[in-house]
Amino acid sequence: MEVVTRVAPSPTGEPHVGTAYVSLFNWAWARRNGGRFILRIEDTDQARSKREHETAILEALAWLGIVPDESPLSGGEYGPYRQSERKSIYSEYTDRLIASGHAYRCFCTPERLTELRAFQRAAKRPSGYDGACRAIAPEDSAKRAEAEAFVVRLAVDKSATTRFNDLLRGEIVIENENIDDQVLLKSDGMPTYHMANIVDDHLMGVTIVMRAEEWIPSSPKHVMLYEALGWDPPAFAHVPLLRNKDKSKISKRKNPTSLEWYREQGYLPEAMVNFLALQGWSLKEDNEEFDVETFVDKFNPSDISVGGPVFDMQKLDWLNGEKIRKLDVGALADRIVSEGFAGDWSHADIVRVLPLFQERMKRLPDFAESAGYLLGRIEPDMEGLSKKVKKADPEALRAALVKASETLKEMAGQPEEARESALRAIAEEAGLKVGNLFMGLRVAVTGATASPPLLPSIDELGVEESVARIANLVERLVPTA
Ligand code: GLU
Repeated sequence: MEVVTRVAPSPTGEPHVGTAYVSLFNWAWARRNGGRFILRIEDTDQARSKREHETAILEALAWLGIVPDESPLSGGEYGPYRQSERKSIYSEYTDRLIASGHAYRCFCTPERLTELRAFQRAAKRPSGYDGACRAIAPEDSAKRAEAEAFVVRLAVDKSATTRFNDLLRGEIVIENENIDDQVLLKSDGMPTYHMANIVDDHLMGVTIVMRAEEWIPSSPKHVMLYEALGWDPPAFAHVPLLRNKDKSKISKRKNPTSLEWYREQGYLPEAMVNFLALQGWSLKEDNEEFDVETFVDKFNPSDISVGGPVFDMQKLDWLNGEKIRKLDVGALADRIVSEGFAGDWSHADIVRVLPLFQERMKRLPDFAESAGYLLGRIEPDMEGLSKKVKKADPEALRAALVKASETLKEMAGQPEEARESALRAIAEEAGLKVGNLFMGLRVAVTGATASPPLLPSIDELGVEESVARIANLVERLVPTA
């Protein structure tokens, strides 16, 4: 059987990491099986749906390399792929459900429904429609429909039980008495999520519905609709929700959720993909860093574990650093430039100095931030320095720095190793820890206590400029009284 997967975002906000996560699994499963991956826009909520959100979702997924086989952008055999453009399709099926007695028109006014809710609340009864319009004879219902506003509701057989299999959770059994006579078609003729969702999944040939676990309560209604229409339901796999550290559903307040934010912060798409793949899934080899081809090759939805994965930004930072180091210098420079993180640097200059920084980078903006000292922007971190060299004798440090700068000048052009041992000898002679002298030089030359390798930095900067910077630091080191 052909594997057909889909993701069905509602374009009501910024492109969400949860959408990327669900898309990734669906896309990978279709890829692995040579199937189709559909992106359908669920914009039945016309008030909140916006075309710009749809565009942003498609762009963010494309940035991650997740390109649907069928979508509003690329079209496809089963389009249109926006529910708002499929209105006439749905009413055909609600008519069919009415004719077979699986659904009925409800003429209750909003006022009556409000009263009903208030009554149920006061009586501490569960809320839900009371089925009043179910008793209307079909002929009367058809006649009233010509003049009155109505919605179409699912006629739930309250005495029955609905069962379905979830690939990750086994059989899920729900007593129908707990299921409301769900609205399928609104009074404006728009379908609700449930109706549109099952009609589209069926007509588009979807064979597996992989979506977030928050949709589990909706699935029995969907199963009922499939049965009522005489269709085979797809397989279901409800994947765990992404969670904040405190295990609550991922939220803007506790974690950035917009994919655009991650891009703006200089995360690489391959790091995002790797990170999202690890939310509920892992490689058997226990290797956390892997590329997308490996993921596609190994992924199977039935291996997803349902224990809520925690969105751990530290892990993302680590992965991003790993991916940065995997790129060759030219490719990394391309990314820095094309993503707008080059600052005042030209591509050629970035390529030249990038080897000094690549090792320590976590995100793309780190380059321009830490390379600023090469462009003369330095403000030596005196506080940081004094913390690092607390135990060193200040006079000895000043003297050693002066000596070191003379030596650097004399030995300019000599191999790194020779210069390094000369500097070590200076520290030892002055009774200083080697690390303290190097720390002083590092803060002098780069401004910061943590920095790229010292001697290559001096070479890039030029010995004149480096010596001047060391002199500047020496002046700022407050002599002891
Ligand atoms: N429109 C729903 C959403 O925004 C789709 C849920 C589903 O996949 O069935 O998540």
